[in-house]
Amino acid sequence: MDNCIFCKIVKGEIPCKKVYEDEQVMAFYDVAPAAPVHVLVIPKEHILESARAVTAEHAALIGHIYQVIAKLADELGLEGGYRVVTNAGPDAGQTVLHLHFHLLGGKLGPMA
Ligand code: 5GP
Ligand code: ZN
Repeated sequence: MDNCIFCKIVKGEIPCKKVYEDEQVMAFYDVAPAAPVHVLVIPKEHILESARAVTAEHAALIGHIYQVIAKLADELGLEGGYRVVTNAGPDAGQTVLHLHFHLLGGKLGPMA
């Protein structure tokens, strides 16, 4: 999708610090980390704006994303635990309208 920051990252038009990529999914460090470890996990295709639009047809993709998150958390040394956040819509403060999951690790504060 034109004018989508994450689509531009997938295409290599905006640089990123990539930590994982497969046919469906890409993961890279957030440019403005909100935790000691802050990685964004996204579907490479701009299929959904947010989790609000998820339906049964996306079940395999969402399951795959959570598997990737679990693998990354291990690789990134988050033995102590981690948090997965997906902002959906303006009240949640979503700024990039391309489905994404924040993987937050390290010592975290309470949830807002
Ligand atoms: P949202 O607020 O939509 O849930 O999260 C969007 C996230 O994307 C924010 O945490 C923001 O820091 C991150 N972000 C925005 N632009 C870029 C960018 O160009 N590169 C990277 N790596 N992260 C970005
Ligand atoms: Zn996009």
